[in-house]
Amino acid sequence: MLLHIIIYKSSGWGNSMDELKEKALAAIDEKKDLFLDLSDYIWDNPELAYLEFKSAAAQIELLRKLGFEVTEELAGIKTAFKGQYGHGHPVVGILGEFDALSNLSQEAGIAEPKPVVNGGNGHGCGHNIFGASSIAGAYTAMQYLKETGKEGTIIYYGCPAEEGGSGKAFMARDGVFDELDCAIAWHPGNANSVMNVSTLANEQIRYKFTGKASHAAASPHLGRSALDAVELMNVGVQFLREHVIPEARIHYAITNTGGMSPNVVQPYAEVLYLVRAPKNPECDEIRQRVDDIARGAALMTGTKLEIQFVKACSNVVPNNVIAQEIYKSMNDVPIPEFSDEDYEYARAIEATIETKGSMYSALARALKGEAKEQFLKMLESPLYDKVMPFVPFDRVVPASSDVGDVSWVVPTAQFNACTMSAHTANHSWQQTAQGKSDIAHKGLIYAGKVLGETAMRLFDEPETVEAAKQELLERLGGNKYVSPIPQDVKPAPLVSE
Ligand SMILES: [Zn+2]
Ligand SMILES: [Zn+2]
Repeated sequence: MLLHIIIYKSSGWGNSMDELKEKALAAIDEKKDLFLDLSDYIWDNPELAYLEFKSAAAQIELLRKLGFEVTEELAGIKTAFKGQYGHGHPVVGILGEFDALSNLSQEAGIAEPKPVVNGGNGHGCGHNIFGASSIAGAYTAMQYLKETGKEGTIIYYGCPAEEGGSGKAFMARDGVFDELDCAIAWHPGNANSVMNVSTLANEQIRYKFTGKASHAAASPHLGRSALDAVELMNVGVQFLREHVIPEARIHYAITNTGGMSPNVVQPYAEVLYLVRAPKNPECDEIRQRVDDIARGAALMTGTKLEIQFVKACSNVVPNNVIAQEIYKSMNDVPIPEFSDEDYEYARAIEATIETKGSMYSALARALKGEAKEQFLKMLESPLYDKVMPFVPFDRVVPASSDVGDVSWVVPTAQFNACTMSAHTANHSWQQTAQGKSDIAHKGLIYAGKVLGETAMRLFDEPETVEAAKQELLERLGGNKYVSPIPQDVKPAPLVSE
């Protein structure tokens, strides 16, 4: 440690490790416009799960330009790809996302809801920033490997369809991440903090009911209503809720009601379910009970049922070792300074948020001590410009992420960086609106540097990677990754059928 400090202070020596790190981090600033332009371009072209063709092409073009070796169509998915540099171990993966959400089209830089395209897609989860920043991080790591000649490989993974498609889970099922020693990721957010939490596993299933059409007044006795089946299934599931573990969540959307005509016995209807629970087997067990309820509804209504497994993702297995490396990097890299204009815009956005704290009530309840104090302080200011204290893993948050599947395969840790105002919720027009702002751009550069710095740490200390692997083994307690997605299920865009 002492040696480290001495070398750090001795700027006259030239080319010490720390200087090489500084140089690698400065490379992000030099190429800043490329990363910001990429993020803005993806924002301008919001594409849904598995249809992210423009967003993927733009990233692939930049990866090639920066000198990465690109492999396309990972796991047979057209918009999954990677950019790789270096040789040997450790092999560090940086995950990136870039898909958008439906119905979240919104003009940038304003503080009122105003879609660019009515009913259009929008980057309401900030994934435009996510992908671009992760490439910036991989670029930093690449510079470091080049300058130092160290052994190590950096891989940026372009992971499609996080929203409703679990792209990474399909990639993990296909063994895409098996080549890694560890993985790091981030997500745009309200604060700078290590995301050292677990999330809920989930399974998404489409229940398709087919009945018999008939004139609803003249011959209802001849009809068999698929819509009735959907309604009865939903009633059955409401009664199920009392008899599942309290951490479970069961959501649904009726994706086809059978049409607009009440004077027809609807012959076709479908409902999409999303079941969540802290662990894969718990989730699977509840989903099987929902399947049974659907079968019962079909029996009650004389309709036919087809159950279509759409996708699933695993719970996140946290990793304190990698998370701590991220935390060190978050404190080493200069935190963005927000301007008066940034604060003014954030305040204007905050004024539009009616349900302040809705995103965070569960989080705030789970936090303790200094972390809780910091968190509550964060919510008082429109923008967060500190790093939250490190909290060793101690909780599961009520959300899901397909990073979960990566975390079962290799030690994985994630963080949030501030790219939006304190109370902006994910999946809101406010988040889309801030996606091209200076706040988002500053967060992008910061997150890129944190990813890069963390990768450099791991290249410097392969023993840390080994410790992280050990932690993963212990957390899995002898269990191996089994994909929650059956082998015959193919990734597909989330459209109503
Ligand atoms: Zn999201
Ligand atoms: Zn997201």
